[in-house]
Amino acid sequence: MSFRPLIAICGTTGVGKSKLAIELALYLQNAASSQHGYHGARIINADAMQVYAGMDVITNKVPLNEQEGVEHLLMGFKKPGEQYVVGQWVNDAIRLIDETHQRNQLPIVVGGTSYWMQHLIFPNRLVQSPKTVEESSSTTSTSAPPISEKLSNSLSLLSPPLLELFTNLPDDLPSASTDPDAAFTLHSLLSKLDPEVAQRWHWKDTRKVLRSLNIIKESGRLSSEIISEQSNEVTMPRYKTLCFWLYANRDVLGPRLDERVDEMLERGLLAEVEDLNKIATTPPGTKGQQQQSSSSNDYTLGIYQSIGYREFNEYLRNPSRSSKEYEDAVESMKISTRQYAKRQISWIRNKLLPLIYASNNESKSKGGTNLVDAYLLDATELSNAWVTGVQQKGIDIMNAFLEQRDLPDPLSVSDTARIMLSVVEKPTDPTMVLNARRKIICPLCTTNKDRPMMIEEGKEWSAHQKTRLHRRMLRRSERDSSPNSRGGQECSQIQEPQLSDDPKS
Ligand SMILES: [Zn+2]
Repeated sequence: MSFRPLIAICGTTGVGKSKLAIELALYLQNAASSQHGYHGARIINADAMQVYAGMDVITNKVPLNEQEGVEHLLMGFKKPGEQYVVGQWVNDAIRLIDETHQRNQLPIVVGGTSYWMQHLIFPNRLVQSPKTVEESSSTTSTSAPPISEKLSNSLSLLSPPLLELFTNLPDDLPSASTDPDAAFTLHSLLSKLDPEVAQRWHWKDTRKVLRSLNIIKESGRLSSEIISEQSNEVTMPRYKTLCFWLYANRDVLGPRLDERVDEMLERGLLAEVEDLNKIATTPPGTKGQQQQSSSSNDYTLGIYQSIGYREFNEYLRNPSRSSKEYEDAVESMKISTRQYAKRQISWIRNKLLPLIYASNNESKSKGGTNLVDAYLLDATELSNAWVTGVQQKGIDIMNAFLEQRDLPDPLSVSDTARIMLSVVEKPTDPTMVLNARRKIICPLCTTNKDRPMMIEEGKEWSAHQKTRLHRRMLRRSERDSSPNSRGGQECSQIQEPQLSDDPKS
């Protein structure tokens, strides 16, 4: 695969993302010579509000005179009320990134709209997550879907009673306590069709077992098929990506964001809110034209969801407004802004970083290198500290990245980086999620094979082995058979403990 570099700058609102992007672009443009061959950069906007034209205050666009002649793409080209969703943006961004590469320029994607950034870096996450797939069993489907080869093979191996059961799945849940036969038969059916999914559920958990069977029936595919297809797609990023997380300490960022709200009010936020309201209440369709022209517009989405619009539109529509209401609106806009910043950080730590780490681990397990390098740059202190702490570090890392040299350890860049970049690695791969919390049958304690004793592997299995019942059964089996006991073998195959809920048995 050829080297297709992308720089992504993320971070909270008000932390200097656009400034850094422009500085990196100017550096590339002005560098006298470069070994990597990139001359200049184009900035691609990944902020869902800044795609709208006008309304520069409420959307926080970089003013033209501060863009320093660097091209800013996907910015200010939609009218208020026009819809523009993540899939459209990703397609537009991909097209522009390709075009930029062809010019030997570097695409720099900048923005705070987390899910846009995520879906650009990691493709194919826009399909339903396995969770949604599982939960979609209640959706109505009018016609039966085509049946996958795997499912059709499994179906052909079913005994006639089980096939009959699959054709006529019960509407009511069989109760494991009053009708254990029915409950276990249902689980046996799932085990025959989709063993990987079946081992997640205890046979007594009829609700989950039946739901899994319904998914198979409605999708025409095995859940494990759907999940493994997603697993193959999820972890590979589209581009060799260098991700800068621009970060400012909360104690410093909070007041900075408050100040910015005051500044926005001085620069004419209220006038923009009035303009937006006017557009929303007098759409073009009302001037004797057909409704058609505005039929795709929605004056509750897009820029109408921006922080500032909601708070001040309400205030401006209030006939008995006073300075008290004004102060309240200011306060509520400040609170919303801080909450937004908090959500952005939590997205980076809980969604983006785990995806990045999982993808790098996958690549390294196949002998490759990191596909996404993530660095935190500390923008807590501005003024002089910006040049050394953010600008120069950013340029150095970018140069090494473009020249495909060894990059510094991201944790070594600063103390803040060491703290914030360490996240608990969570399984992001759907197959890992599927294989976690498997229920295994204890061969020793199972006396009736139609009522197997199932225990979740990990902690619960360890606990189970210490129970009086299990130890008694183990002694009995050791007495009865050879010293090579099965219980001991099972034990050694168990992987590391998984946290889990109580078994619903
Ligand atoms: Zn046991």
